[in-house]
Amino acid sequence: MKRTTRRDFLKLAAVTSLAVSFDGCALLKSRQGSPEPIHCAEVVSTSPSDAFDYVVIGSGAGGGPVAANLAKAGYRVALLEAGGDDENANYSVPVFHGSASEDPAYSWDYFVKHYEDADRRKRDSKYVPEKDGVLYPRAGTLGGCTAHNAMITVYPHNSDWDRIAKVTGDASWNSGNMRTYFERLERCQYVHPNRDNFSRHGFHGWLTTNMADPRLVIPDKQLLAVIFLGVAKALGEGLDQPFRLLKNPFDIQEWRTVLEEREGLLKSHYDPNDWRIVVDNPQGTFGTPLATDGGKRTGTREHIRAVANACPGKLTVITHALATRILFDHDNRAIGVEYLQGKSLYRADPRAKGTDASGAVRRTIKAGKEVILSAGAFNSPQLLKLSGIGPKGELKKFGIEVRVDLPGVGENLQDRYEVGVITEMEHDLEVLSDCTFEPPAPGQQPDPCFSDWQKGKGVYATNGVVVGIIKKSKSERPLPDLYVFGVPSYFKGYFPTYSDASRHHKNYFTWAILKAHTNNTAGRVTLRSADPRDVPEINFHYFDESNDQAQQDLESVVEGVEFVRKIMRLSGPVTKQEVIPGENIKGDQLKEFIKNEAWGHHASCSNKMGPKSDPMAVVDSNFRVYGTKSLRIVDASVFPRIPGFFIVTSIYMISEKASEVILADATNQSV
Ligand SMILES: Cc1cc2nc3c(=O)[nH]c(=O)nc-3n(C[C@H](O)[C@H](O)[C@H](O)COP(=O)(O)OP(=O)(O)OC[C@H]3O[C@@H](n4cnc5c(N)ncnc54)[C@H](O)[C@@H]3O)c2cc1C
Repeated sequence: MKRTTRRDFLKLAAVTSLAVSFDGCALLKSRQGSPEPIHCAEVVSTSPSDAFDYVVIGSGAGGGPVAANLAKAGYRVALLEAGGDDENANYSVPVFHGSASEDPAYSWDYFVKHYEDADRRKRDSKYVPEKDGVLYPRAGTLGGCTAHNAMITVYPHNSDWDRIAKVTGDASWNSGNMRTYFERLERCQYVHPNRDNFSRHGFHGWLTTNMADPRLVIPDKQLLAVIFLGVAKALGEGLDQPFRLLKNPFDIQEWRTVLEEREGLLKSHYDPNDWRIVVDNPQGTFGTPLATDGGKRTGTREHIRAVANACPGKLTVITHALATRILFDHDNRAIGVEYLQGKSLYRADPRAKGTDASGAVRRTIKAGKEVILSAGAFNSPQLLKLSGIGPKGELKKFGIEVRVDLPGVGENLQDRYEVGVITEMEHDLEVLSDCTFEPPAPGQQPDPCFSDWQKGKGVYATNGVVVGIIKKSKSERPLPDLYVFGVPSYFKGYFPTYSDASRHHKNYFTWAILKAHTNNTAGRVTLRSADPRDVPEINFHYFDESNDQAQQDLESVVEGVEFVRKIMRLSGPVTKQEVIPGENIKGDQLKEFIKNEAWGHHASCSNKMGPKSDPMAVVDSNFRVYGTKSLRIVDASVFPRIPGFFIVTSIYMISEKASEVILADATNQSV
């Protein structure tokens, strides 16, 4: 059989188009790839009978898979989750992800600062005076932020891994090896598995991935114009013509024909997760892989439940359990966790308002082998500090006994910069005409979009993104650093009630511009008090306060705004006006707009991984917390630099890697 080389593949890609999405449609019907049946191994536990082998704190993207993997390997694992495990349509229906992020059943609302300068903070139209900050949604529920995120599952850059390998001197982090963890966890349903698997997708893992059906946009003349006139022309001017398949890429009728008739026949470079694409870092339009299964959200929650059911007695999930302190012996070995049992105890939970902790029960849980901290980029540093691990001065200020003076805890906090460019369209978008963005009230008929979703298809089975573009903000950037995605909605970032917009406005189109690989590493998570129910202080120190001296991050976002403006100009007479930032906002005013209004939602890097020689490193390349024994961190906080465009795939991958090193250590210890 002739081997398809990367060069062949890219050649093929250059003359074809939109293929993966089409494959996706075909495969949604044929349901390729099945999850491996869950095998529950047996090991002889050496832990005392009143202890679990492992205690994992936090069930999100980092903690969920590691807890499940250790349980499958036969160990007794306790998974402490501060939230509950409620589930309603906001969880299951992908397009309701905005509502999920504001649903009190799941939400933890942080109010963060972008600037130390109080005047500057107030210039953000999303600023909430009584909180002195900007809403930063997180999820305090089983599955963590995978229970409300937008499900975008995009592979990071290989250089993200190679950099960790270089910094730590640990070759197991090299990008070739890291791909094996992705293959292990993915159950891809939009690519045909074949023997050679040059795409290096996984087909039998726990995370099901799909692509939205691109034919959904066909009835919508305005969207077709934006995508196939605006995007095609704007990209065609600066980059390779992205739509070469067509005789005339600007002929919408021809697109309709292709979309309707060529399903499943095309192969292309439209899958950002295909290994042959990943190694090449190309620019252009891409499909958006989503973590959905049969049209429903899927994530760590489903994985945890499946393993808990399949391996009885191995994975004990304790919800409404707010970890307050990690417990150590005299040798700094983590031996357990103290937690408060009770609902809505953490003050980021909107339901925490009236609750006092008097109804909560203080408990301890013992770990015979290890404690794994996976409480996320805000809570993991907070919990370390509450346990006496962090910068000495800060701990003393709050009367916390210093166990390990580790100055890097809570430092190096990073995020993307994102802004929305919102255009009012001439008419309501046809693709939304049958959608109320509400589940049916009891006893009522569902709207037509909801009925479609119940059959596993339609607008509600997507996350709303209709097109994604990856590009360099400036030609001199070493890698593509902008992910620009279009949504038929009004979205200017997060503020209380932000998710109502899709219900009220159907004549807006937003380009969300996401700046990846930001230079700013000046963010900080610091204690507000020694009370574990309080949220910490979070300050990202944006732009002027950042350590991006050359202000390259700002320049890149400006380029992104100008690029999407060009798309809209080239889209023909379907647009009425740019409402945000507004057509007249240019030059310095545009920079000011970006500084005021930018947001992020991939907080990370606040317990960075690094070599022992780096005084600011918190964990080593095996996730072990310096100065302690039997304590690891596995979540978004351990990255030294923020990876890729979307972070959750990288977190899933490190969770698989951590499982492997923890199990290897367990085996070595028991020999
Ligand atoms: C609105 C939104 C949309 C997003 N969309 C995407 C997307 O489409 N694609 C993408 O790649 N990324 C997305 N992200 C980011 C991504 O989902 C998160 O970065 C990722 O889930 C973080 O994983 P984690 O394990 O570090 O933390 P989390 O997933 O936040 O998990 C931490 C868990 O720890 C629990 N916890 C915290 N403190 C304690 C404690 N003291 N005791 C017990 N439990 C505790 C929390 O309740 C939570 O369940 C989105 C984020 C947001 C906010």
